[in-house]
Amino acid sequence: MDVRLNSVRIDREPTTPMACLVDGFGREINYLRLSVTDRCNLRCFYCMRDEVTFLPKSEILSLEEMERLAASFIRLGVRKLRLTGGEPLVRPGVMGLIERLGAWVGSGELDELTLTSNGTLLAGQAVALYAAGVRRINVSLDTLDEYVFQRITRREGLADVLAGIDAARAAGIAVRVNMVAMSGINDAEFDKVIRWCGDHDCDLALIEVMPLGLAADHYLPLDMVREHLMQRWQLTPVDDHTGGPARYWRVEETGCRLAFITPMSHSFCAECNRVRVTCSGRLVLCLGQRDGVDLRPALRASEADVRLEREILSAIARKPAGHGFASGRPCAEIRPMWQLGG
Ligand code: SAM
Ligand code: SF4
Repeated sequence: MDVRLNSVRIDREPTTPMACLVDGFGREINYLRLSVTDRCNLRCFYCMRDEVTFLPKSEILSLEEMERLAASFIRLGVRKLRLTGGEPLVRPGVMGLIERLGAWVGSGELDELTLTSNGTLLAGQAVALYAAGVRRINVSLDTLDEYVFQRITRREGLADVLAGIDAARAAGIAVRVNMVAMSGINDAEFDKVIRWCGDHDCDLALIEVMPLGLAADHYLPLDMVREHLMQRWQLTPVDDHTGGPARYWRVEETGCRLAFITPMSHSFCAECNRVRVTCSGRLVLCLGQRDGVDLRPALRASEADVRLEREILSAIARKPAGHGFASGRPCAEIRPMWQLGG
């Protein structure tokens, strides 16, 4: 059988019928987050140390290997693909990969291609992203204050992020702003950011900080934040389930949606539909567990994808029931998001 996914050709009998990525708990896995790089041009203190050792180039999948990997996941039933990092837009050549992956949206093999970006390089790529088929994007923006931005990211760049969001909206790409909520850092800015998102026609997601390293002192349970916000904003629950941890509300005053992402205080694992692959090809089955499998040897062993797909299938069958963040395990066990592919 000759199945062709754009430039990626797969000559073989399918190892399995379509849509068969079902784990041992009966959850259908149809969402892949693929990290295209561990590099980043910011150093958000809750994510990365200022001095970090990045992976050697030889351990990072080539763009062609990433395309093959994505093709295999799609053949096995993945319908939604999110590129992440590190910062995905810093990887040289990434736009070519996005164009090739985007063609699968055009042909119906993929429902959605999207990315999570820090927005600093977005202004220059927004039109090309839209042309490639990207219709939604998540942009991280924790503050509207340049001083606080530099305190969080250890770099300058707020104006670039704001310009990136404007360019994406102008290009026709829907934007969800991701704001990591941190006590003592940006907790005085929630109202301002909600209003800003309303004015710029963006959804907003408040994300519970995972207390890694320097972020440990800034954990803020979002139940409490929502209660406070409800005293000032009219929030109506919206039934938009994505199979992930986000729970959506409509802000009636702005018409935009507000999500609360609460991995620390709530378990969303029963409906989990996703897995991650790091830029070195490690399939990570759960955000909060160490289980995973290194797919790079299978990718590099052969140009055929039979072994690769077998390894994906057997790994998915072992996906853990849940992340166990609330079990009292020390948070040091959770890997930083820049390594995981956030
Ligand atoms: N560089 C891109 C960005 O910042 O959007 C993509 C990668 S980043 C690792 C993906 C997401 O993970 C971002 O929204 C970021 O805010 C979030 N993140 C990183 N570390 C986190 C932490 N300790 N707790 C909660 N969210 C975190
Ligand atoms: Fe870079 Fe994103 Fe991590 Fe910030 S959160 S350091 S932008 S990867």
